[in-house]
Amino acid sequence: MKSQFEVFLRLKPSNNQSQNAMQYQIYQNKKLQVLLPKHVKFGMINNNRDNLDFNFTHVFDQKSSQEHVFTNVTTPVINSFLDGYNATIFAYGQTGSGKTYTMSGAETWQLRGIIPRALSYIFDEIDKRTKFEYKIYISFMEIYNENAYDLLEKRHLETPLEQWNKIALFEDDQNNIHLKNLSIHQCNNEQEGIDLLMMGNFIRQVSSTPMNQSSSRSHCIFTVTLEGCDTTSETCFVSKLHLVDLAGSERISKSQVEGNLLNEAKYINLSLTYLEQVIIALNERMKGANRQHIPYRNSLMTTLLKDSLGGNCKTVMIATISSENDNIEESLSTLRFSQRVGQLENEIRRNEKVDLEAVVKRLEQEKLALIRELEQYQRGGTSTSSNKKIQQQQQNVLPQSSGIPISQKEIQEKVELYLNERIPLLDVKSIEETQKCFEAMKDLYNTRMKEYVTELTFISEKLQKYDEILTRKKEQSSFLEQKENSSPEIEVYRRNESPQIQFKKRPNQ
Ligand code: ADP
Ligand code: MG
Repeated sequence: MKSQFEVFLRLKPSNNQSQNAMQYQIYQNKKLQVLLPKHVKFGMINNNRDNLDFNFTHVFDQKSSQEHVFTNVTTPVINSFLDGYNATIFAYGQTGSGKTYTMSGAETWQLRGIIPRALSYIFDEIDKRTKFEYKIYISFMEIYNENAYDLLEKRHLETPLEQWNKIALFEDDQNNIHLKNLSIHQCNNEQEGIDLLMMGNFIRQVSSTPMNQSSSRSHCIFTVTLEGCDTTSETCFVSKLHLVDLAGSERISKSQVEGNLLNEAKYINLSLTYLEQVIIALNERMKGANRQHIPYRNSLMTTLLKDSLGGNCKTVMIATISSENDNIEESLSTLRFSQRVGQLENEIRRNEKVDLEAVVKRLEQEKLALIRELEQYQRGGTSTSSNKKIQQQQQNVLPQSSGIPISQKEIQEKVELYLNERIPLLDVKSIEETQKCFEAMKDLYNTRMKEYVTELTFISEKLQKYDEILTRKKEQSSFLEQKENSSPEIEVYRRNESPQIQFKKRPNQ
């Protein structure tokens, strides 16, 4: 199924209402027209335009509330995530334009952003979907200077960033990316999820070293993994929701930085430049250019978000811009980037898998039932209700012939109806008819036996195949375990690990 990228725009409220405010118009909540200030207009190559238009799925003006943004942007994405599709929501914009405000929110519960609202929504929804059994896991990482770190590792509270274990990436034979040194936490309710988010944000803040003074220089990826099993059909799925707060998109020429900071700025700009290159390459491929190679691997962030950008994922971008003319060049660059992103589309599919063990169990039960039925038949089938009725009828004294000849076909139909319990009694008028009925029954039983035997053969072949698949799966997982155990400093998944740190619980509303 094709899924067009959706791009939303959010304008940050202006600090002052002076002449410094950006001049713009919003049309039908979908189009932003920016009136270009003179210095910008004359700086443009083709400077005969006074304004520029940009189209979006929806434009949120300066007054839009957190709730309004959440309902419009996130609800449809999360619904498809709950149905088994991968999804990504990422915020892009210059530092101070409202990315973190949009994704995480401000200090108060009322001003919470998309991530905490998404957690509430997910837990509310899975409570309603009683046909499914769900498990939810959360991980939270930060990418900083081309290194990724776990934000849910408690030990990071006591150690400086330089001593943190870096998250390691490796790719398997099927090009799937696996991460080491990233903890995954099972999460049973909304509060546990919010505690994890707060712990991650807290670790991100306290990790401030001279190298990492501002969160605007790092990218953050909050990932919710959902395992859902349909209890009625043995099908399960695993879907991932990435909620991404990118580093500030400002250009290096503007960030007047030196030394270490310059180095950081380069990395940030580099990874966002690589993000742009990936988007351009994907755009060209969409327009029919022969682009086999998409440069995902140039940066860690694009490698990690490979599926979100050009794979099996429903992707949504929220562009955030300031409403001041001082920032107009950065805002225009964000707006231009968003238009390129809006042209992309991904091919998405439900990440379904069959619960092999449940299928094997069901097939084994079916097989046992069939074997029992077969044995009963082989014993003479005396216990079947149909036979009993026939026997009773046989004991009755019947005339030799009713005088009205009845065809074999009619008898066959009658017997079939009787055996299928569509008629309560087998109306037999003569011994001759009784004999014909027995003949018809014998024929029917033989046909059904043949069907049973075919079905049994089919089932045992199926069972054999499942056995093979299960053996292969076991071999694969023991191979992966061996691989993981071979590097002792690395732990892959530490599930069920809940943080010790207690955060203020949300007030009851
Ligand atoms: P970014 O993450 O893009 O660097 P922030 O989200 O930290 O920017 O926003 C900078 C400041 O502006 C914060 O104090 C934030 O609370 C405030 N802010 C951002 N967007 C809005 C908004 N839509 N409404 C009110 N305040 C906002
Ligand atoms: Mg921020």
